[in-house]
Amino acid sequence: MYKVHKIILINLMLLSLVPILLAVDPVIDLATPESQLYLLARMWGLIGTMIMWWQFMLGIRDLVTKFIPDLVWVNNLHKFMGRYGFIAILLHPTFIFLHYAGIGVNILIPKLENDFDFYKLMGTLGFAILAFVWLTSAILRSRIKFRPWKQIHLFIYASLALILFHGLNIGLTLNTNSNLRSYWLFLTGAFVFAVIYRFLQASGSIKKHYVLKSKVDLTHDVTQFTFQPNQKSLVPRPGQFIYLQVKRFGETHPFTVSHFDPRTGEIKLSIKGSGPFSKSLKNLPLGKTVYIQGAYGAFTEEAYTSEKKLVFIAGGIGITPFFRCIADLPQAPKILFWGNKTEGDVCLEEELKRAPNLQIVHVLSNQPTYSGEKGYISIELLKKYLGDDLERYDFFVCGPPVMMDLTVGILKQAGVPIQQIYSEKFSL
Ligand SMILES: Cc1cc2nc3c(=O)[nH]c(=O)nc-3n(C[C@H](O)[C@H](O)[C@H](O)COP(=O)(O)OP(=O)(O)OC[C@H]3O[C@@H](n4cnc5c(N)ncnc54)[C@H](O)[C@@H]3O)c2cc1C
Repeated sequence: MYKVHKIILINLMLLSLVPILLAVDPVIDLATPESQLYLLARMWGLIGTMIMWWQFMLGIRDLVTKFIPDLVWVNNLHKFMGRYGFIAILLHPTFIFLHYAGIGVNILIPKLENDFDFYKLMGTLGFAILAFVWLTSAILRSRIKFRPWKQIHLFIYASLALILFHGLNIGLTLNTNSNLRSYWLFLTGAFVFAVIYRFLQASGSIKKHYVLKSKVDLTHDVTQFTFQPNQKSLVPRPGQFIYLQVKRFGETHPFTVSHFDPRTGEIKLSIKGSGPFSKSLKNLPLGKTVYIQGAYGAFTEEAYTSEKKLVFIAGGIGITPFFRCIADLPQAPKILFWGNKTEGDVCLEEELKRAPNLQIVHVLSNQPTYSGEKGYISIELLKKYLGDDLERYDFFVCGPPVMMDLTVGILKQAGVPIQQIYSEKFSL
């Protein structure tokens, strides 16, 4: 989905590097080995900053998703650029070191004697912060809990600010090429604008305000919340999710809009109390104002144009993106495989049972007395209901990360073409 938009974005990113490459002066920059090393240092500094700038902008959800609503794809691009863009930035100090070493100066000895040293220090600090964020995000992410990781991640604001400041003050190319300097000032302005925008978002001021109208316990740990818009409502498409914020400057968490009423603009979120934030929602008083941002994502959109039989595979609360799609497509033959621990974890089954042309296969992993399917969703189980030719189906998979990786893995192994497997992990 949105293939052309994605290609345009990637091309735009590549194009944004052109002014940097045009700034090279072959006569001066390539004259001696030292000047060549210095050129490499400057180029990689500028290219690395440009990558960081894009990576930062991709993190501003509302901005990018105006153009590409598939936030999961945007987020993956953001992660990819963070992981590998760091190498580009790293090349800058490496070549700077080699250049100065070549002319007999050791820049590793710290000194603070003049303005140049100060701006150099600012760049070093920006780089050190970036290295720390990169280490925790790209290398140690799986070993760090979500909240500390997220807080560390915010340091990237300081890092990019310091790196831009460093470049504008002592970057040779930026101080000798007026066109490139104007370009950099524009990038810096956009960065400042984005920071202000993020601050206003965190305050809740520029998000949609909704009021909690009702809450109903669906199971022992899943509650359905109905939120009523205070002003103009969002119009989430089926399968899309929003970010929910309860307090000004508080945490924001993604939840799928499981139901939407276009007449009133009311949205329903079916939320499993799994950790501090989702559990705390149970105590929200009716009438409480919350801040909602979105809607994002493109999951299940392909189901609306598919000519194949639809297979939905949900792990626990991963059922939420499917409610609207199942209701919207009464004519399409559909089958739902739904993994839960016990029958007590199954929510809103009556609603699903009313859906025409829908076969439901419950798979319970922790109820040995259950007379239906037990254990986990396996390829044998899928073939028992779907037959051996799985290529006749389009698969939509949603659930917790481990279940998702396993299920998508077995589908691929069974030869289902990748373009017939659509998935959404409940973890960004
Ligand atoms: C696209 C999407 C749609 C979702 N839809 C639903 C839904 O309809 N119903 C439902 O019950 N759950 C849904 N979730 C999961 C829900 O967002 C998490 O369970 C919740 O944020 C966990 O926060 P916590 O404090 O309760 O638990 P924690 O124990 O703190 O978090 C558990 C895990 O959730 C993830 N997580 C935590 N905070 C965030 C955050 N701010 N942003 C992104 N991921 C986070 C992390 O991987 C973390 O390890 C969805 C998640 C995503 C990504």
